Amino acid sequence: MKFELVIGLETHVELNTNSKIFCSCGGHSSPKEPNDCVCPACSGMPGMLPVMNKRVVELAATAGLMLNCEISRYTTFDKKNYYYPDLPCAYQITQLNHPICTNGLVKVKTAAGERDIRIKQIHMEEDAGKLVHSGNSSFVDFNRTSVPLIEIVTQPDFRSPEEVVAYLNKLKNMFRAGGISECEEGAMRCDVNISIREEGSEEFGVRTEIKNMASFEAIDRAIRYEAQRHMNAVEFETEELVQETRRWDDAAGKTFAMRNKETEADYRYFPDPNLMPIVIDDEWLEQIKANKPAAVDEKAEEYSLMGISEKEIAVIMTDHKIAALLDGVIAQGIDGKDAASWILTDCAGILRKNGQVLKDLTVTADQLAAIIKMVSDGKINRGAGKKVLIAVIEDGVDPVAFCEENGFTVQADEGLIASVIDKAIAANPQAVEDFRAGKEKALMAIFGACMKELRGNGDPQVIKALLEQKMKG
Ligand code: ADP
Ligand code: MG
Ligand code: ZN
Repeated sequence: MKFELVIGLETHVELNTNSKIFCSCGGHSSPKEPNDCVCPACSGMPGMLPVMNKRVVELAATAGLMLNCEISRYTTFDKKNYYYPDLPCAYQITQLNHPICTNGLVKVKTAAGERDIRIKQIHMEEDAGKLVHSGNSSFVDFNRTSVPLIEIVTQPDFRSPEEVVAYLNKLKNMFRAGGISECEEGAMRCDVNISIREEGSEEFGVRTEIKNMASFEAIDRAIRYEAQRHMNAVEFETEELVQETRRWDDAAGKTFAMRNKETEADYRYFPDPNLMPIVIDDEWLEQIKANKPAAVDEKAEEYSLMGISEKEIAVIMTDHKIAALLDGVIAQGIDGKDAASWILTDCAGILRKNGQVLKDLTVTADQLAAIIKMVSDGKINRGAGKKVLIAVIEDGVDPVAFCEENGFTVQADEGLIASVIDKAIAANPQAVEDFRAGKEKALMAIFGACMKELRGNGDPQVIKALLEQKMKG
């Protein structure tokens, strides 16, 4: 039998806000020690009321716009009730009935081609705390309690683990570039829903859900394992598949059953009476739209119009730091294609020699722009530019000062060059004689002697013009 894999994702992303979603405690990047960022509201003291953080709505809507969603003008919160020690209120505030974004679409590219992934919805919710187990004791850390999350739910549109990883990378790049989230390890977590069906079939098979996956590599492995388990079950009847929640054990390289899939009724959802519905009016929506940074696709299009190649764009888009560096250099008036080539060829080459990769690049946009500018203005030649770049990358020197200190600045002073030429002519009588006898090439020997005297930094155009003048005149 030939099977097709069907995957849907629920991705949780911690938002980059200064404070939590319903209180003024510091957001996800604030805490240093356990329980540093906790107040009566987010630690579940009775009688405390939530106050909505406006920024969360704006970031969630921005994420929705980036994923081509419809933004709900009327959006509400619900309580999802369950007991767990990391959830001090015994309910999570989330959105069930009126999520902030619906009906989006993302294009995902893999070696197999491009596929449209439909976004069912994006909703806002609060994160839970963290349990820390040590010996016979368990500790609870409420720093993460009430940190704002968005959950992005796709339709079951993925057909391979490659598509899933490409989608996650795309979200990560978009959200980082857009200031939605830094998406560092742990700040982006996925529930992966998997089923299989016979190729050509329209019906869905039994699905299982692998909970709380944080590493893309583990997600890839877990999908492959789980798909194989489903295929064995269907084809060889090794076991009966049931709809359930499973966990991935990375060391074992296997998934294990955790619990039967809970249904909506298990959570006794109801509208949160403590939070007013949020109405996003035209003016606010226009403001959010105006502040939306370019999404990854638009960005790629922009680079392409600058003449940057597809291959280069692919590398730039997988690392938001590189994209930010490129944008910073371009913002200083440098040609995009030129800037991309300095980053992807010159910088990458220097790093490679030192056993490093592009991620390790520390050069700033100011430094790189200064180097490229000196080269394109003819102040230094390309070779010297490369030497400066090495010094900047390896020793963090100031590029302009470094050029001056090392005499890299191109010498175009005609008086100086004329005197250097006179000296070279005097020192190379044979070459002069050969040239006069008709050997054009002999001129190069004198040219070379001049360049050497000028330590490689003479302006070649000026040398050539003056030299020809003197030899022929
Ligand atoms: P629930 O309410 O049970 O969580 P949802 O309809 O919200 O179910 O779907 C949760 C996720 O599971 C979505 O990402 C969806 O795309 C995915 N999903 C639904 N059915 C299947 C299936 N048969 N195979 C794979 N994924 C599925
Ligand atoms: Mg769900
Ligand atoms: Zn708090």
